[in-house]
Amino acid sequence: MNIILTGAPGSGKGSQAPFLEKLLKTPVVSTGNMLRAEVAAETELGKMVKDVMEKGELVSDDLIIQTLVSRIRKPDCRNGFILDGVPRTAQQAQMIDDLHLMIDAVIYIDVPDDVIKRRLMGRLVCADCGATYHVISNPPTDDGICDICGKELIVRRDDTPEIINDRLATYHSLTEPILEFYTKKRTRILKINGNTSIQETSKQIRKLVL
Ligand code: AMP
Repeated sequence: MNIILTGAPGSGKGSQAPFLEKLLKTPVVSTGNMLRAEVAAETELGKMVKDVMEKGELVSDDLIIQTLVSRIRKPDCRNGFILDGVPRTAQQAQMIDDLHLMIDAVIYIDVPDDVIKRRLMGRLVCADCGATYHVISNPPTDDGICDICGKELIVRRDDTPEIINDRLATYHSLTEPILEFYTKKRTRILKINGNTSIQETSKQIRKLVL
């Protein structure tokens, strides 16, 4: 099964992705995590996208689709994939469609902007495995340390108040239109109320997906 997980930055995609991965036994492909790894490793691609990512802007559609294709060609994606944070523009959705990658469902996590802003202000991310935490609502067991892999937790450089506002504006103008794209394609869109706990959101997803 090929699934797209979409929603505003901070809507809970990163928290739900590992849950979905286990539930469907299908790998998550997160372009954000892949690009952050490229930046950390100081690869050519990493150097190209570093500034754009730090400003909270979108990386070019061509680079994203190249990155995505090289990942989903790997054997573990043969029976399906869960796309996290991609497509992020209607053009990317069209490019994925042009590749004849059949999308079975779009899981759309809906969260109001004011809640998103509060969430992103306290977000912590594992620099190594990409797991996400929140200082108040979902703290790690040991301060500053990832529960899953034991590596250091960081505040993303794009999780600052101004950049959060810009990212939300970009989401509404460029990413939300993908819902219209998939509505026209008659792809199933599963709308989830993400203005609730991580566990409650997972329950809704399980009900709709299984
Ligand atoms: P994320 O972790 O999904 O919030 O992605 C972090 C950053 O990576 C974004 O703010 C963009 O700069 C870049 N990025 C990730 N996925 C995409 C995408 N599908 N299209 C454009 N830029 C992306």
